[in-house]
Amino acid sequence: MDMTVDFSIPAVRWIVECGFFLIGASLGSFLNVCFWRIPRNESIVTTPSHCTNCQHKIAWFDNLPILSFLILRGRCRHCHTPYSPRYFFVELTTALLFAAFAATGIFFNWTPEFFLIPGCAALYFAIAIAWFDFRYCVIPRGVTVTAFVAGVILAGCFPRHYGVFKSAEAMFLATAGGIGFYLALALFAQIGKRLARREVLGGGDIKAAAAIATLLTWKGAFFILFAATLTGVISGSILAIAAHRQFKRQSVAFGIDLAVGIVLWCFAKEAIVALPVFCALR
Ligand SMILES: [Zn+2]
Repeated sequence: MDMTVDFSIPAVRWIVECGFFLIGASLGSFLNVCFWRIPRNESIVTTPSHCTNCQHKIAWFDNLPILSFLILRGRCRHCHTPYSPRYFFVELTTALLFAAFAATGIFFNWTPEFFLIPGCAALYFAIAIAWFDFRYCVIPRGVTVTAFVAGVILAGCFPRHYGVFKSAEAMFLATAGGIGFYLALALFAQIGKRLARREVLGGGDIKAAAAIATLLTWKGAFFILFAATLTGVISGSILAIAAHRQFKRQSVAFGIDLAVGIVLWCFAKEAIVALPVFCALR
């Protein structure tokens, strides 16, 4: 896909959106592998896909994203043990997010150079941190470090996303932004810990924010942190009211709030930077 693609032709839009859907479904499938194997310290590359119950190797035609779950009705072909519907939902969510993001990008005339590819990478990261934080209350270091490095590489590939033309310059800006956010938040967490006498921001959250800064520039990271804090306070209050207990901010599940912030920024960036409050992000 390059800048000469004519998105005014409906067929072209459909092909691109379907392409993003398929890429999202495949990458969602890989995410499922990570979700199972990373907490168990298994290799995510070398071991072929296998049934976690009977260890039978899964053939390629039983390993199709989204479809295989429907065809096999969520059961292993060999031992008939049901497997988690998570596989289906993660693949479908990733596919739909990517396709919707491509459609949004086409609507706003974003070229891949500007936002489309780094935005997709950030959405992918959002799904990963939301799941790990929801399921394990921790964001693995491997995930945040990979996202940080991916952000720097993508800045080199798409420097105009950073508002510059030279790859080296964009990579420097991404690295500086990421390290800057890391140091600022680490300092904030230390001060907060002294004052509140408890952990206010986890190490995984700090690294995740640094990765967001490399993927979506410091402006994106600034808004996402703001939105995540707001989301955390609102959702925490609602949960506290529902449970009839006093509001107590949980510092551990900030990953889901960060993921919400990433999705907001990716889809509504144009509207957000137009708000007078966020004029500095323009
Ligand atoms: Zn099996």
